[in-house]
Amino acid sequence: MAHKSDIEIAREAKKRPIQEIGARLGIGSDDLLPYGHDKAKVSQTFIDSVQDRPNGKLILVTAINPTPAGEGKTTTTVGLGDGLNRIGKNAAICIREASLGPNFGMKGGAAGGGYAQVVPMEEMNLHFTGDFHAITSAHNLLSAMIDNHIYWGNELEIDQRRVVWRRVLDMNDRALRDVVTSLGGVANGFPRQAGFDITVASEVMAILCLAKNLADLEKRLGDMIVAYRRDRSPVYCRDIKADGAMTVLLKDAMQPNLVQTLENNPAFVHGGPFANIAHGCNSVTATTTALKLADYVVTEAGFGADLGAEKFMNIKCRKAGLAPDAVVLVATCRAMKMNGGVTKDDLGREDVDAIRKGCANLGRHISNVKSFGVPVVVAINHFVTDTDAEVEAVKDYVARQGAEAILCKHWAHGSAGIEDLAHKVVQLAESGAANFAPLYPDEMGLFDKIDTIARRIYHADAAIADKSVRDQLHAWEQQGYGHLPICMAKTQYSFSTDANLRGAPTGHTVPVREVRLSAGAGFVVVICGEIMTMPGLPRQPSAENIRLNDAGEIEGLF
Ligand code: ADP
Ligand code: MG
Repeated sequence: MAHKSDIEIAREAKKRPIQEIGARLGIGSDDLLPYGHDKAKVSQTFIDSVQDRPNGKLILVTAINPTPAGEGKTTTTVGLGDGLNRIGKNAAICIREASLGPNFGMKGGAAGGGYAQVVPMEEMNLHFTGDFHAITSAHNLLSAMIDNHIYWGNELEIDQRRVVWRRVLDMNDRALRDVVTSLGGVANGFPRQAGFDITVASEVMAILCLAKNLADLEKRLGDMIVAYRRDRSPVYCRDIKADGAMTVLLKDAMQPNLVQTLENNPAFVHGGPFANIAHGCNSVTATTTALKLADYVVTEAGFGADLGAEKFMNIKCRKAGLAPDAVVLVATCRAMKMNGGVTKDDLGREDVDAIRKGCANLGRHISNVKSFGVPVVVAINHFVTDTDAEVEAVKDYVARQGAEAILCKHWAHGSAGIEDLAHKVVQLAESGAANFAPLYPDEMGLFDKIDTIARRIYHADAAIADKSVRDQLHAWEQQGYGHLPICMAKTQYSFSTDANLRGAPTGHTVPVREVRLSAGAGFVVVICGEIMTMPGLPRQPSAENIRLNDAGEIEGLF
């Protein structure tokens, strides 16, 4: 039987007016700022008015080290939200917004898949409510003001060779990675080497996703370092006097977006920071608001648990004062096979031995999550090609690790396919078993924090870094940044820094190539390996197949 594509399923959705979805959460229509009929922002006034309410339970969905296809975290987040509603709970989900650029490169949306999707999926994957455009504008306003400051005399004595603030665009465009600006004569300023990142890599995005309110947003924007002087002293966004105008541009974008799942359950979709040089989770405002309005909030962190869950716990939860009550670790038989050494082309063939081998990866993620003091359950996201023997092999393995693996068929059957997981999540979250603590205290030295993540999460022998990197970390400690958490940027395909080392490698080290300070977002980015902040398009971009059909519907987008 041929399966419908994600977009075909999404198009058949029987959406309810967004006011009805808001009402389910107790949001009156005055507090919903509608963008059309099926999207709305939740007003800041309303958010302020619910702050003294108790929080619901927070469920994090994370995953094993992924295969290049993605393993279905978003699909499972959406499915579990629907599943919890199906068994009579008041549940909402929180996920990230999609970046525009990658849609035109390779297929793969950000709204879930199959019968576990958020709608309107086309809009969510394209311009949505304009948040990313606002972030692009705010970011580039600062860029323009920096060059303008230099043009009009450079009173701050910015070293033009040390402007670290780049420009952004929400497009995969490798031609813009490194550019020279201000060519063309005296009236155009001073030529200097510059470059573009994709919008989701902007520090403004990370800040929007971590800020507690508009005042906090403005302060953090002001704290961003944009350049250095010849004496290496930092120049802040505040010195350029851009923080106020940037906050104005971002004021609507700060309010979380409400949409619905295919089963008409509430879904917050807000913010979308990169999961490598930033923390990779939806906004703090969306999560904290949802926790005030729903008894269960299911949210997702990017990449595998070694990156996504680690940063969710150590950055987002630490900064926002959140504590997860349960973690769902998504695994697929396909990814177990790949971690066990099977190549992509052979994934369709049953291979129980490879599954058993690949399960070492899953086992390590289970014990890592437990080390944060949070109970964990494994969700086997079922693909139609999975065999019973393969599924049993995963279940057996997980049982031996002292956890449970539950087969979930939400992609094919929606909430009806994920009831067992929903019941288990309720049991775990209500058990009071969670005793969350981040991995390291604020007071620990910056390099020790990196080393702790390398040893405890990646199971490496040690983190290693050149003297120049260590000196830089010491300098930041002297300048008062020593309390910041670490934001690791490494390959998502392995526990190690080598994408080809699958499974559960040991005996490796974690070489730190570069460190960057995101002083406004409030973390130190630690770069291990090549990290791309402006993607390119593949030889045959999916944009070639995207078009409007005669009915005015979008074709070719997923
Ligand atoms: P992640 O959030 O882990 O990156 P997604 O949930 O976005 O992954 O899913 C990635 C892609 O895989 C989507 O196109 C989705 O439709 C597809 N997918 C997810 N689960 C299944 C499944 N069980 N069977 C087939 N395709 C799936
Ligand atoms: Mg996802």
